[in-house]
Amino acid sequence: MAPVVLPIRAALGCVLVDDVVAREAIPPFANSSMDGYALRAVDTRVAPSRLRVIGEIAAGGAPTLTVGPGEAMRIMTGAPIPEGADAVIMVEESIIDGDHVVLSSAAAPGQSVRRVGEDVAIGDTALLAGTVLRPAHLGVLASLGELSVSVYPRITVGVISSGDELVEDGSELKPGQIREANKELLMALVERANAVPVDLGLVRDDEKELVSAFLDAIGRCDALVTSGGVSMGDYDLVKATLNRLGEMQWMQIAIQPAKPFAFGRLKHGERVVPVFGLPGNPVSSMVSFELIARPAILKMMGHDVLDRVLVHAIADAPLRRRAGDGKVNWQRVVAHFGDDGRVHVESTGAQGSHQLANSAGANAFARLEDGTGVESGGEVLVVLLD
Ligand code: AMP
Ligand code: MG
Repeated sequence: MAPVVLPIRAALGCVLVDDVVAREAIPPFANSSMDGYALRAVDTRVAPSRLRVIGEIAAGGAPTLTVGPGEAMRIMTGAPIPEGADAVIMVEESIIDGDHVVLSSAAAPGQSVRRVGEDVAIGDTALLAGTVLRPAHLGVLASLGELSVSVYPRITVGVISSGDELVEDGSELKPGQIREANKELLMALVERANAVPVDLGLVRDDEKELVSAFLDAIGRCDALVTSGGVSMGDYDLVKATLNRLGEMQWMQIAIQPAKPFAFGRLKHGERVVPVFGLPGNPVSSMVSFELIARPAILKMMGHDVLDRVLVHAIADAPLRRRAGDGKVNWQRVVAHFGDDGRVHVESTGAQGSHQLANSAGANAFARLEDGTGVESGGEVLVVLLD
């Protein structure tokens, strides 16, 4: 995607295109880190010292007086250090005595003075190209006077749910109908990935409807995520329709949940839109989005790091699975840091791929190789989702 220039506030979570080289220093001038007295350190060598107070300066002020021998200036945090002074003694170590101040401690030169450029000097590379902008990075850009920034844009990701049985308008369910879940789930996951979700609606198991939905998607979106209709059923028409329109790869992935998966490219004139055909069961949709679609979406937005953090965790209760299917299980778990400094996990509950409610609280997926699972106290690899 071609870079765009955005106001910094709009660039949260985006990837920086170029290094940001500081044109200004942070701090821009030497200033006090304390409320206290600006003075010459040499005048405080023998504590207590008694100095004449010649004035005061607050944050935002510009000093006009020079601090001479035997003198001090009342100073507030963030105020510029006046000419002549080279240290600040905090107010807690002072007692006012008429127009003098008595200081109970000695100051070292530079004490409580924030030097010019001590965070960022002019010419420093403050942020590297490729940085994923976090809230603090936006603060740094603002500190440098950079009001806008060149980033890779958020891509728009169309989300389609398919299936004759689906209802999303809140109306009473007729026999055989269920409520739509995946579109809400996937729209939110797209948003969490810092992309822009586009609701392309529910599409019936009908080739004509599917074709027009996909063409609509090509026109409006940079990528497309569909759910349902990619397995072996007679009405899994997403598969057939995408085959007609695009270059598709159909996969049976050796994972559970989310075995069937489709990836392909829809072409329309110059445009090529990648499409991720996720299975319909809600948990399968969630897991395959996380493991497969999300990294691809991040890559389209210029990210270098595509994988989430993987850690060795302790299973606080057994994580069971059926052995012998040759698949890797991705079980939904809740992870927390224990007092031992390790990540601990527990299953969220029933692990059926249709049981989204039982998986909804997961903040991690545990990776279980083929076998019977992991006993209580055993180690397990987990992907942290937050
Ligand atoms: P499919 O992949 O179309 O065969 O769907 C597999 C299962 O997931 C079926 O039980 C569907 O009813 C269910 N399903 C498909 N799409 C959705 C959706 N958007 N929300 C909730 N359940 C769905
Ligand atoms: Mg279906």
